[in-house]
Amino acid sequence: MSSAEETTISGTGVVAGIAYAEAVWVRPRPELPGASTPVPEEQRDAEFDRFVEAADLVASRLEQRANGADGQAAEVLDATSRMAKDRGWHKAVRKGVRTGKTAEYAVVGATDKFVTMFEAAGGIMAERTTDLKDVRDRVIAQLRGEPEPGLPAVEGEAVLLADDLAPADTATLDTAHIKALVTELGGPTSHTAIIARQLDIPCIVAMGASLRDIEAGTVLYVDGAVGNVTIGADEETSKQAVAEYRERAEKVAQWTGPAETADGHRVQLLANVADGNAARIASDSVAEGIGLYRTELSFLSASEEPTVEEQARIYAKVFNAYPESKVVVRTLDAGSDKPISYATMSDEENPALGVRGLRVARDNEALLTRQLDAIALAAENRDDNAPTWVMAPMVATAAEAQWFAGLCRERNLVAGAMIEVPAAALMADTIMPHLDFVSIGTNDLTQYTMAADRLSSQLAYLTDPWQPAVLRLIQHTCVVGHDNNVPVGVCGEAAADPMLACVLTGLGVNSLSAASTALAGVGAQVSELTLEQCQKLADVALASSGPSEAREAVRELIEKYRD
Ligand code: PEP
Ligand code: MG
Repeated sequence: MSSAEETTISGTGVVAGIAYAEAVWVRPRPELPGASTPVPEEQRDAEFDRFVEAADLVASRLEQRANGADGQAAEVLDATSRMAKDRGWHKAVRKGVRTGKTAEYAVVGATDKFVTMFEAAGGIMAERTTDLKDVRDRVIAQLRGEPEPGLPAVEGEAVLLADDLAPADTATLDTAHIKALVTELGGPTSHTAIIARQLDIPCIVAMGASLRDIEAGTVLYVDGAVGNVTIGADEETSKQAVAEYRERAEKVAQWTGPAETADGHRVQLLANVADGNAARIASDSVAEGIGLYRTELSFLSASEEPTVEEQARIYAKVFNAYPESKVVVRTLDAGSDKPISYATMSDEENPALGVRGLRVARDNEALLTRQLDAIALAAENRDDNAPTWVMAPMVATAAEAQWFAGLCRERNLVAGAMIEVPAAALMADTIMPHLDFVSIGTNDLTQYTMAADRLSSQLAYLTDPWQPAVLRLIQHTCVVGHDNNVPVGVCGEAAADPMLACVLTGLGVNSLSAASTALAGVGAQVSELTLEQCQKLADVALASSGPSEAREAVRELIEKYRD
């Protein structure tokens, strides 16, 4: 694909796939109003009623869309519609209107107040500010009688461009028309990326300000695997690439597993889940079990620690989705971007490097042992042959691994650790003898290896799991795992990328755990190559100077093997 006038801009590819279509921009957010002459006192009640009517309309539209969606999309829309009805937010608007502000201006003030609060809380709470600002913009547009901001109506096929997508928009994208998503902001773990993965639509995030120069109607060639958007690409070659991509997608849809390389080397495909619902969805997919149950996500809004029995009931819901297969439960990864009120310190200067994950239990071992008791209790009813594995997040030393494994074994639980701190990868030979398995968390391993915040869109070029530095740590971990007979899995987002999954297989990873929707693509790709070819891919990736070079080199080699 080359032409004299083609221009390519690059971002971070988060969902592989090819699209060739005209650009459309998400309808702009309304200009925010400023202060104006005070609303006369006798009109203030009516002004507030006007707000309530607009907020109700916005909420009910979102609710309707939630009813027509399912899974994560329905949850996101439902949560956003509840925000439009939030009592605290309404109260803050009323307060503003009572002082003479227009409904529009009071909405801005009330939203700012909550945004500041959410940002101070940090982590997942901070991410909710996008949802709240989205509700603000919808209500303001409604108050002004303007069309609701967000997705335009699209006829034919289009590539959707945006600064960042509001969760409510990404949740209901019409994939019959929208063939790719490209955003200026966002990162590999942002909301846009998660939904794009769920919809399996090619997606590139963190393109930077240069995206703004692309006008609606410009024909774009999007390559989600590499993270490139090309203007002026040759039409015939581009259409050919799209046809080949769709043919592959068809193959993926028909792939049923289990995963093995073309010469019969098995790789277990497992699902990452947050609760029983996601586990049930996974059980309908090609996932052979659960490779990462993030227990902390069940307790983000809990103000008190649930009792052992309450916890056991929650965990049992995940176990029930896979009564006869492996389930890997991760103990509470509280802290950093996932603050949990009863477990996390609130005043850390640097929470990503602070008391998070297993570290929380150093001064509060009972919190961990109660969780292990609950896991053991929930596992009591499992089939004798169904493996229940438990792993600790953020293990950094052999002493931590030994301590955690001891607590697990007292309860007859299979003990493992996440390898997500570079020290743990480098010291794997001292850590592994204490454990039954390890699972590499590439999201944090990348963040800590590259010293780059995984939530920062400016640093997405660093927090790329194709970073050869990260691959070298994975290689080392696999070699040590092999020497110690300890199975090595990967449960970060890297496992969701079909090409990278082949590299990981070549490095010696035994299982890959990712969002269940990503697994068929991974399995289908792995099944096309022999183990030796995967090892060659690993060699070229390890020898590359950067993530883009690694992707490109691996892609070229895969294409060569296909011919
Ligand atoms: C990781 O760090 O790669 C991981 C799987 O854990 P989390 O994304 O929950 O931190
Ligand atoms: Mg992690």
